[in-house]
Amino acid sequence: MSVANSAVQFHLPSVDRVLRWPAIEALIAAHGRTVVLMAIRAELEACRVHAAMAGGISNAVMAEAVAQRIATFVSPSLRRVYNLTGTVLHTNLGRAPLPPEAIAAMVEAASGASNLEYDLGTGERGDRDDHIEAWLCRLTGAEAATVVNNNAAAVLILLNTLALRKEVIVSRGELVEIGGAFRLPNIMTRAGCKLHEVGTTNRTHLRDYADAVSNRTGLLMKAHTSNYRIEGFTASVDETLIADVAGAKGLPFAVDLGSGTLVDMTRFGLPHEPTPAETLEKGAHLVTFSGDKLLGGPQAGIIVGRKELIARIKKNPMKRAMRCDKMTIAALEAVLRLYADPDRLIQRLPTLRLLARPVDEIEALARRVRPAVAGWASAQGNVDVVPLDSQIGSGSLPTNLLPSFGLRITPASVKRRSGRILEEIASTFRSLPTPVIGRISNGAFLLDLRCLEAEQDFIALFAGAPAI
Ligand SMILES: *Cc1c(COP(=O)(O)O)cnc(C)c1O
Repeated sequence: MSVANSAVQFHLPSVDRVLRWPAIEALIAAHGRTVVLMAIRAELEACRVHAAMAGGISNAVMAEAVAQRIATFVSPSLRRVYNLTGTVLHTNLGRAPLPPEAIAAMVEAASGASNLEYDLGTGERGDRDDHIEAWLCRLTGAEAATVVNNNAAAVLILLNTLALRKEVIVSRGELVEIGGAFRLPNIMTRAGCKLHEVGTTNRTHLRDYADAVSNRTGLLMKAHTSNYRIEGFTASVDETLIADVAGAKGLPFAVDLGSGTLVDMTRFGLPHEPTPAETLEKGAHLVTFSGDKLLGGPQAGIIVGRKELIARIKKNPMKRAMRCDKMTIAALEAVLRLYADPDRLIQRLPTLRLLARPVDEIEALARRVRPAVAGWASAQGNVDVVPLDSQIGSGSLPTNLLPSFGLRITPASVKRRSGRILEEIASTFRSLPTPVIGRISNGAFLLDLRCLEAEQDFIALFAGAPAI
């Protein structure tokens, strides 16, 4: 940027004067006066401190700094990144990528009015759940279904509806914390329920449940211990048996599956995950699971099961506070539709496609993109194609690793393999026009290519950036 007057200033110019600089007038033409004014004020404020220390600042430097502030201000905060961490369902990176069908449905729903809560047959008020309930019932065998913002909300409203001021019986081995702040005991307190832990961390027996039931009990619950496994001398009670205890006492029994999948994962060569259909079959009255984990859809919390229990949940005033947006409903409906054709699901649903991606395909991809990355980063060290292990993420067992391939950037000298150098390499990849997120492991920076599908864009990203 060229600025007419680049003389060093010992006194800061007034806002009005800065506004008349040609470089600043160009910024006003591009971004409008409000933003430019804001940037000038912020920059003058910063300069007051800086100039006092440094003894002055040139107009050119200040105009450039104002331009920089504006560039930061007008660029979006939420951006696309390349998830090359090796964790497919990465909560911090937005979990499931959506299929084009769901994206199109969201655009359509967002672009104008829709029959979100409007019955086109009668012209009367409808229910937003109607768009997805029949699909969920078909796919899980449930009598009824409802959907809220996320699975944490699903668990919260379920507890609050069925066990307010009552006890909820849960095995000690299932009092899970799931990434961030989802802890079942805390959610229970907030839902207004009293936790009644039974059994021990490693073993819980049927009689533990049966003995715990009293007139204070509101619900029996089982939580899928998605992100850890207790090994060795363990015992947990099968859903069928807990369902029998609940049934005999006339109490509801709910299972929080977390990452519920609607299809048998083993048919895609993936580890078995319990499905809502199986869990209902075993006698659970209600099952909760996420929309954006293995299901591969938008963020949502899905509750399926007995009609009369779902009806009570829908009537809870909390439902209004947790209801899904129209774009979520649109995306979820589109994703559920894809499940109608399970044979083509693996091509059409990105989450499944990435999870089941053949390792030789990932290796070939790694060999094709290596030259571009090496050309860009070779000064930082060797760039090699290496076998890696991906994980499913989002609470699926971290011990179930998926063989994958990727690139390993190893700093040239052993001395330079310190954490700081690796952090710097990672940071440089994050500063690319589309940030590339990898992981640091064993003295190297790793890019797991399982989740890379836009190969040409990725190669162009490195070709267009100055080498590091
Ligand atoms: C992930 C998970 C949750 C929370 O689901 P969100 O969709 O993140 O709200 C709750 N319970 C279990 C068992 C989970 O795995």
